[in-house]
Amino acid sequence: MTTQEPLPTPLDEPVPLIARHRAVTPAWLALYYADPIELTHGEGRHVWDSDGVRYLDFFGGILTTMTAHALPEVTKAVSEQAGRLLHSSTLYLSTPMVELAEQIAMLSGIPDAKVFFTTSGTEANDAALLLATSYRRSNQVLAMRNSYHGRSFSTIGITGNSSWSPTSLSPLQTLYVHGSVRTSGPFAHLGDRAFIDACVADLEDMLAQVGGPVAALIAEPVQGVGGFTHGPDGLFAAFKRQVLDRLGILWISDEVQTGWGRTGDHFWGWEAHGQSGPPDLLTFAKGLGNGLSIGGVVARAEVMDCLGANSISTFGGSPVTTAGALANLRYLLEHDLQGNARRMGRILRQRLDVTARQLPMVREIRGKGLMIGVELVDQDGQPSALAAATVLERARELGLLIGKGGPQGSTLRIAPPLTLTEDEAVEGAELLREALRQAQQELW
Ligand code: PLP
Repeated sequence: MTTQEPLPTPLDEPVPLIARHRAVTPAWLALYYADPIELTHGEGRHVWDSDGVRYLDFFGGILTTMTAHALPEVTKAVSEQAGRLLHSSTLYLSTPMVELAEQIAMLSGIPDAKVFFTTSGTEANDAALLLATSYRRSNQVLAMRNSYHGRSFSTIGITGNSSWSPTSLSPLQTLYVHGSVRTSGPFAHLGDRAFIDACVADLEDMLAQVGGPVAALIAEPVQGVGGFTHGPDGLFAAFKRQVLDRLGILWISDEVQTGWGRTGDHFWGWEAHGQSGPPDLLTFAKGLGNGLSIGGVVARAEVMDCLGANSISTFGGSPVTTAGALANLRYLLEHDLQGNARRMGRILRQRLDVTARQLPMVREIRGKGLMIGVELVDQDGQPSALAAATVLERARELGLLIGKGGPQGSTLRIAPPLTLTEDEAVEGAELLREALRQAQQELW
């Protein structure tokens, strides 16, 4: 065994957490702020850092704190279950796991649905790809341009943007489909109907040149890491009706960011494309556990059961995460948080639209429900990652946490917990307007 040299420091001066972090964890973690924030606790829509500073949380730990920080119902369910049985593995049954699977199967909209639990969104998509490729006996898949599906070997291998994909070596053959971004690409000038028709024709064209069967199309209804972009409603219905069903290609809806009512008008993102029926598989994670490490895949029984292997997950569906997720899901449904996402999303949009008219640095406000993207440009009208990074720092100083993303890193991502109140929506929109104003003054 080798030991690491301790970092030299005067006896009375503790080594700052950031220095300890940088020494022992990957260089690509905790990069949002020049001086990363150390969070200590949270309550409702607020979190506190180690200096006692309070922040209004408009990003929810990447769309994961869905109900609220320290929601008593979730805390109670987790601690009671942890006191009874912390772990069981999928070799055995636990009541919370089966109950949660029943609820999700029923909510999914997929007929004859079965649920397999994982511990993350990446693993959920991995499982969905494994199921679809095994069922269809093909390792060819379709993914959307600009997509993000996780950081495992297979999911990063199908990611539709090279800035998030450090490897081009993928176990899957991936073809990239047009349709997720309206503002650039060859069809950007078209209206909704013509845009959908052009994307369908492009997909048909592409598939006509491919040898052998294609297993699945995997797509986010609203692209998350891609900067809260989405194609017109009905796009995936058209893909399904006109192309996928005819060729036996499965539709996997990646609902890791869009599930549980986040998009306001619908419980799942796919429902905006539901005219031709539900997807064949649906993946989820993030918001279900309100921060507990849980994800999963829903699939029609014949697809789920196609794996002959005795496939075991040690931690997937743990009694503690499923008990906490059940309490969280119950709260979400009983308090109609989807409806609240729609209402609060509208309030935020109205205010941000006014800000966009006042500040030329803001090119576009987009998204659905409480998934709002703010696209920033420089004085030449080009996407500006610098502007986004500057707004994040100014917002932090004002006590507001937001996210960023998009292929050029130029999109601010606004995604507060779905329990957001009207006062908090108004306060957050004001703080963001001020952060944008300061950043524009600084950079323009
Ligand atoms: N799918 C989508 C749409 C995501 O946004 C993410 C993460 O941001 C993932 C999958 C991966 O989820 P996780 O980070 O839980 O592995």
